[in-house]
Amino acid sequence: MKLSWKTLLLWSLPIFVVGFFFWQGFLGPTTTDVGSNIASSRMTYGRFLEYLDMGWVKRVDLYENNHTAIVEAVGPELGNRVQRIRVELPASAPELITKLRKANVDLDAHPPKSTSAIWGLLGNLLFPLVVVGGLAFLFRRSNSASGGPGQAMSFGKSKALFQMEAKTGVVFNDVAGVEEAKEEFQEVVTFLKQPESFTAVGAKIPKGVLLVGPPGTGKTLLAKAIAGEAGVPFFSISGSEFVEMFVGVGASRVRDLFKKAKDNAPCIVFIDEIDAVGRQRGTGVGGGNDEREQTLNQLLTEMDGFEGNTGVIVIAATNRADILDSALLRPGRFDRQVSVDVPDFKGRLAILEVHAKNKKMESQVSLETIARRTPGFSGADLANLLNEAAILTARRRKNAMTMSEIDTSIDRVVAGMEGTPLIDSKSKRLIAYHEVGHAIIGSLLEHHDPVQKVTLIPRGQARGLTWFTPSDDQSLISRSQILARIVGALGGRAAEEVIFGDAEVTTGASNDLQQVTSMARQMVTRFGMSKIGPLSLESQGGDPFLGRGMGGGSEYSDEVATNIDKQVREIVGECYKEAKKIIKDNRVVMDRLVDLLIEKETIEGNEFRDIVKEYTAIPEKNYYISQF
Ligand code: ADP
Ligand code: MG
Ligand code: ZN
Repeated sequence: MKLSWKTLLLWSLPIFVVGFFFWQGFLGPTTTDVGSNIASSRMTYGRFLEYLDMGWVKRVDLYENNHTAIVEAVGPELGNRVQRIRVELPASAPELITKLRKANVDLDAHPPKSTSAIWGLLGNLLFPLVVVGGLAFLFRRSNSASGGPGQAMSFGKSKALFQMEAKTGVVFNDVAGVEEAKEEFQEVVTFLKQPESFTAVGAKIPKGVLLVGPPGTGKTLLAKAIAGEAGVPFFSISGSEFVEMFVGVGASRVRDLFKKAKDNAPCIVFIDEIDAVGRQRGTGVGGGNDEREQTLNQLLTEMDGFEGNTGVIVIAATNRADILDSALLRPGRFDRQVSVDVPDFKGRLAILEVHAKNKKMESQVSLETIARRTPGFSGADLANLLNEAAILTARRRKNAMTMSEIDTSIDRVVAGMEGTPLIDSKSKRLIAYHEVGHAIIGSLLEHHDPVQKVTLIPRGQARGLTWFTPSDDQSLISRSQILARIVGALGGRAAEEVIFGDAEVTTGASNDLQQVTSMARQMVTRFGMSKIGPLSLESQGGDPFLGRGMGGGSEYSDEVATNIDKQVREIVGECYKEAKKIIKDNRVVMDRLVDLLIEKETIEGNEFRDIVKEYTAIPEKNYYISQF
């Protein structure tokens, strides 16, 4: 096609008009402030619904005309801490709002921020320039292109949208706390670097490795490190991107991806969130998803289609290996599994060391203390924590980070933003008694984690907080520890009732009660810690396809169900009695602590214990007690 300036002018007028509206429509009012709500992780819409069914979703903020949601969720899969996760919502999901309401989720919609007048004006001026410039570009291209007509116009064609990095620049030393996984992958690096040494003895090089682990534990980082260590290119794509595609595009993308990879072998192909495409086929309420199945089938075909020795190694990541289609796990596909987990104390320390390298810190900052205070934190959480602390340091105009910035950041990551303290009032007194109730029981029970601090400064949803220093090994908990936690969690309500009377108790304890019930129930149904005996009466996960709790709930008779309820009630009842007794016995010291708390707003653990010790003996705890 030969373009002359005359045709160019002729064409530019309608494009101008149409384009102008697009410009206004797309770049004008749709820019929202979703970017300022940084959520480090994402999840698929499907998983979000699962979380909703599990009752893990606490709050949903809608952005971009309800296309994006920032979800605050908490659950065992998320390390029992509030996490902010970004979810892309499908175009029309009106039933979602009803569902969210029913689930009692905090819901807020953020209308688009209208752009300022200057931007509007700038846009108006800029647009003609862009159009004319673009047309001129097309004009030049089509005049000089040797590839024939229409070359520059082919923007309708599906383009491969995977990422390729020639050099990831990440090495194993950047990944910490996952030593076993690193060892396992060391071998993969050797495959990529010296395939001869394996093929010479007739060994087949594995094609696929499945990386399993919760979000933020460094799966992507590890995959990049393998490519970096071996010095090979890194191709990556995310499973959730496939699913958003138009029909047929997912499969063709897989084909493109593998073709490119084979051309660039040796290399690493990384498929993130493979569960988005790789779920068990033919299941799911509301029928299957053809597009997903096609994509998955193409993936399986591609995995079979190349020999292990071509030098392409496919690494896929997921946090739910249990829901993957079994065809994916067959020999010759993802037959190797490497799991990474939320780091333990040593792992956290190692990760903190990696991320502290490029930060300025005062010499008094002890990474060990931080690692102690952060059980359940993933690598991404720890990286985020140090970054938050660094930002805070800059905001406070300090030259180097101190423990104070880190402390503030930990509180913020765990419990949300700090609010303004209540003014002195009756409800402030009640909250103070509630918190001191938790803290005094936490201090006096031998098997309870020690108090780290009590505060009346609200944070997130909580209007006051009592922090405990957890022992590091949270994976093995004894019966007496769970009972102590139940008594401690009931301490808030017990204090309200004992001090203010039955009529004055508040809704402030609802979160505590939820935890109490869940702990007591698990004692009975999962841990065999009740009079029913050592039986497991509920499977942990439930059926992921039917929505948890829907499938396989009734493995026992009604009689057993009644019995479970009875046991749960008995446990909670006993614990509540004990909680009230401790409160009554320690009324004098509690009054003093409450006065102090209202005056100071925060009491550190050591100070708290020193005061309690003046009145009664505190049992020795063999846990580490935080220094600050
Ligand atoms: P995943 O893919 O498992 O969700 P990522 O690899 O994307 O997690 O981790 C996100 C970020 O968190 C990384 O870029 C890194 O900064 C930090 N991180 C996570 N795990 C580790 C780790 N084991 N060692 C060092 N940094 C980590
Ligand atoms: Mg990742
Ligand atoms: Zn409470």
